[in-house]
Amino acid sequence: FIEKHQEYRRSNVASLQPVRGTHDLLPEENRVQDHIAETARAIGELYGYHRMTTPIFEFTDVFARTLGDTSDVVTKEMYTFEDRGGEKITLRPENTAGIARAYISNGMQQLSPVKVCYYGPMFRYERPQKGRQRQFHQIGVELLGVEQVGGDLEVIAYGAHILKALGLWDNITLELNTLGDPDSRAAYRDVLVDYFKGHFDKLSEDSRNRLDKNPLRILDSKDEGDRELVANAPLFGEYLNEHSKTFFKQLTDGLGDIGINYQLNPRLVRGLDYYCHTCFEFVTSTLGAQGTVMAGGRYDGLVSTMGGPQTAGVGWAAGVERLAMMVGTAPAAPRPVALIPMGDAAESRCRTLAQQLREAGIAVELGYAGNMKKRMKRADKANAKMAVIIGDDELAKGVAMVRDLDAGEQREVAIDSLIGVIGER
Ligand code: ATP
Ligand code: MG
Repeated sequence: FIEKHQEYRRSNVASLQPVRGTHDLLPEENRVQDHIAETARAIGELYGYHRMTTPIFEFTDVFARTLGDTSDVVTKEMYTFEDRGGEKITLRPENTAGIARAYISNGMQQLSPVKVCYYGPMFRYERPQKGRQRQFHQIGVELLGVEQVGGDLEVIAYGAHILKALGLWDNITLELNTLGDPDSRAAYRDVLVDYFKGHFDKLSEDSRNRLDKNPLRILDSKDEGDRELVANAPLFGEYLNEHSKTFFKQLTDGLGDIGINYQLNPRLVRGLDYYCHTCFEFVTSTLGAQGTVMAGGRYDGLVSTMGGPQTAGVGWAAGVERLAMMVGTAPAAPRPVALIPMGDAAESRCRTLAQQLREAGIAVELGYAGNMKKRMKRADKANAKMAVIIGDDELAKGVAMVRDLDAGEQREVAIDSLIGVIGER
């Protein structure tokens, strides 16, 4: 039998592992993620943002057209397949494109401004490591239809508020940059292409490919050689026109109004053409190499790139796994009351009682079997705050023994007044 069993294990063990880069969220970890998602959702309501959910897969074009054919995500990281009907489908690597698609499909410009937040799984084929998975989760926000800097400030304030509510603020820095308006961007782009062309032989292969289509993306390269070149590259700031400078000044002044400090990071970019003006990341030094927990910016050209009406947009996305590593543990679950029936009649009475207590909002631990000792052990394991013991004698008198498991004291309470008594504690 043992041999058979081992053979079975050998042949099946590979397929019983989750796919590389994916991860089971066991209840404790799941509670941390739920806490983060719920905090983000609830705080969103204070700012007028409500959650919306788009499908986890879309036509490949939704991402290929908007994320650009030179971005890492599109060239290397997408989970793309043909479905049984021959449609080209991609598991979403991020949610902004999906929301922009939904904005157009649902004619949401009628509702402008559109203020939404989201939470859900994203999929990227990357090398798994700490803080980097192939299926991960993001919370995020999108504000569509607002071109004023007040929109940028609102989404940044919302993001900061979440980080504060999660108790992470002390370990977080806001890094900020501006990409300017399309004119400034075009001017900078030309200068940048000239600069990198002068060092073409030292560029990584990826960056050589990006040079014509997407030179800004090189600033974001993780290649060591590229990074050295980038360190000496001309800075965006010198090529900003008046309008772009004014917008950025309003942004930094506004951050002062809401008491959020920032650090200028002139190397912070978003590679794609529809990004403009505001670009920011909330970063931490506590997570090692994967230190960006929340990243965002303004994307006024996205919706029109997808074939919709010209629509301003600004938003951010945050990695829930990275936030969860910082948060550590979820707030404690409510401590239950353990009901401990002794005998069949008490068992039946306790089933009724358990239902009444739970419907009154009180967590109840009701064992399934076992003697008094076993059930008390179980109550302990469930971190029960009190045990309600009902045997035949108690039942006959219409009472229960209520034992405070912290203080060790116990007293008799009429079964009919249990809900009131327990609810008080
Ligand atoms: P990176 O430079 O770390 O690859 P990115 O620019 O690809 O980040 P975004 O597309 O801006 O990341 O996504 C926003 C946030 O989502 C990131 O800051 C991070 O917290 C999280 N994130 C992105 N990719 C992953 C991943 N593979 N696993 C876990 N979290 C991720
Ligand atoms: Mg990435």
